[in-house]
Amino acid sequence: MTSHTDHTEQSAVTVLGLGPMGRALAGAFLAAGLRTTVWNRTPGKDRELVGRGAISAASPEVAVATSELTVICVVDYEAVDSIVRPEAVTDALKGRTVVNLTADTPDRARSTATWAAEHGIGYLDGAIMTPTTTIGTPAGVFLHSGQEELYQRHRPVLDALGGTHTHLGEDVGRAAGYDLALLDIFWTAMAGYAHALAMARAEGITARELAPFAKGIGAILPPIFEQLAEEVDGGRYSGEGNPITSAVSSMAHIVHTSESHGIDAGVMRAAEGLARRAIGRGHGTDGFIRITDLLY
Ligand code: NDP
Repeated sequence: MTSHTDHTEQSAVTVLGLGPMGRALAGAFLAAGLRTTVWNRTPGKDRELVGRGAISAASPEVAVATSELTVICVVDYEAVDSIVRPEAVTDALKGRTVVNLTADTPDRARSTATWAAEHGIGYLDGAIMTPTTTIGTPAGVFLHSGQEELYQRHRPVLDALGGTHTHLGEDVGRAAGYDLALLDIFWTAMAGYAHALAMARAEGITARELAPFAKGIGAILPPIFEQLAEEVDGGRYSGEGNPITSAVSSMAHIVHTSESHGIDAGVMRAAEGLARRAIGRGHGTDGFIRITDLLY
């Protein structure tokens, strides 16, 4: 049976939220030898952690009162608010620091930071870019934003999570901005892969048959990302080798073939539409990445 503490036992760090990621974070702190207090809305999720030495707190206000530093990692900022904004918890957090590793939008990060400042709570916002299995290993990737001094002060505890930690600047919304931009790449790539597998299946090609070649497409992307970043920041869009006029014709073939099989080609239609807009504005000889300028 889990035993709860309802009085203040001091620990190095408190973890609020024990979903798969919260449990991985708390587990890494414990593995690094840090005294760790844990709390989760639904009881019972701390059983294994308590078995490894974690202190189970009876309430979030007790949990945050045990440590100078609280790491919160729950589903979204609605959940964060419902945990930290009740008066008892806000009062207990005064003079302490919260590192919010929950994923949400840059605006929510900034409004949470404003709330924290109004209540005398130190606040850093962060994003975790790798799965639970990487936490506590060199493969973990953590992004942080907010006051540099606060980040440096808590860096030794955060380092116990392993991996690489990057402080992106004092604008507290930056970690969420990076997170969303990177997830944009991930999910549009996943949507493209799902669509490609459906179209391949309609052509009698199994996912397993396509996979080695799909990996090859993935492998050509990293140097292209580097080169296009230079073009976008420099405002030069060399279409040499693959102008938009050529790219748009291969997109049209994909749309035509998938729709001939009754497959929704909405994602590719959206990309083709952007490419045609760029051509319509006289950028047909530029490369496809010119659409970045069209979008913003
Ligand atoms: P979830 O995103 O499903 O979050 C689960 C946690 O949120 C549980 O602690 C759950 O509590 C809590 N929660 C949900 N709703 C509420 C609420 N209304 N009030 C209080 N607590 C609530 O799982 P993860 O742990 O995997 O993810 C946590 C965060 O980490 C997310 O923002 C996610 O995007 C991010 N992340 C996760 C990765 C992963 O591989 N899992 C990778 C990178 C980032 P309860 O148990 O009571 O339901």
